[in-house]
Amino acid sequence: KLFNEVQELKGNIRVHCRIRPFLPGEDQTSTTIEYVGDNGELILANPAKRGKEGHKLFKFNKVLGPSASQDEVFKEIQPLIRSVLDGYNVCIFAYGQTGSGKTYTMTGPENATEKDWGVNYRALNDLFHISRSRRDTVMYKVSVQMIEIYNEQIHDLLGNSGSEKKLGILNASQPNGLAVPDATMHPVNSSSDVIELMRTGLENRSVGTTALNERSSRSHSVVTMHIQGDRLKEAQHINKSLSALGDVIFSLSQKNAHVPYRNSKLTQVLQNSLGGHAKTLMFVQVNPDVSSYAETLSTLKFADRVS
Ligand code: ADP
Repeated sequence: KLFNEVQELKGNIRVHCRIRPFLPGEDQTSTTIEYVGDNGELILANPAKRGKEGHKLFKFNKVLGPSASQDEVFKEIQPLIRSVLDGYNVCIFAYGQTGSGKTYTMTGPENATEKDWGVNYRALNDLFHISRSRRDTVMYKVSVQMIEIYNEQIHDLLGNSGSEKKLGILNASQPNGLAVPDATMHPVNSSSDVIELMRTGLENRSVGTTALNERSSRSHSVVTMHIQGDRLKEAQHINKSLSALGDVIFSLSQKNAHVPYRNSKLTQVLQNSLGGHAKTLMFVQVNPDVSSYAETLSTLKFADRVS
């Protein structure tokens, strides 16, 4: 479902493809990634077909090779993330087969030190840092919701009554409307507040679940940060300097008026983040090894159609 719906949003989505490095124990002697260019080009080689016929060229907004650091990956999307403070909705997600580095990109490896932090933590730090530096002119209020979508049901991962309460979705058509109004909102003042909440949310996710791995591969957890900037009165003469980062704006206009958001909870929840006043970035994650060829091809094809 998500596949079809994301495809409908073609044009609104920026795609960065990231190839993870080989892991210890993997056969490093051959790869299906034939070529990676600076301009977002990537050539995938079919191990069963030699020569040109076996080669397929893909083009993305950016391709990040196996040696790209977490910092480089983040720097490429930093302006996009900062546009949140200018009132845009920004949605960042990772797509790819299990083991292709989605968690690594978004969160980081287990027990990460600062240099290994993923996009989530870097984005939080950056946003709080900027909102503090703008403190004289704008007051940002930040609050967080965290939900899980599992079997087409929504659970509040930060609610008092535990994770099993089922929640509904608002027909989220207003730009500032909350997609899941009944999920509890938690005001936060720093990235460590958010990290603490995310930890609680992840613990609630595992309550009563025997096969967490199985569940996590079928469920989506969505952390939403709501940021409300009140321009302070004395600063109202300040012009559009806050929009200086707007040069990364890509087309927000919806090409297709009939995006079928309502077909799945995830797309409903993300409606305001994907369409309208929103900027979306997808990491498409791929494995380098030959045995992943088929999955890699289908992942790249998916992302290619979207971008
Ligand atoms: P996914 O979330 O897509 O299932 P993971 O993020 O858990 O995949 O990645 C699978 C394994 O590969 C993990 O051990 C992770 O630490 C490692 N890994 C992924 N991407 C990188 C990377 N860019 N550099 C180093 N290790 C990586």
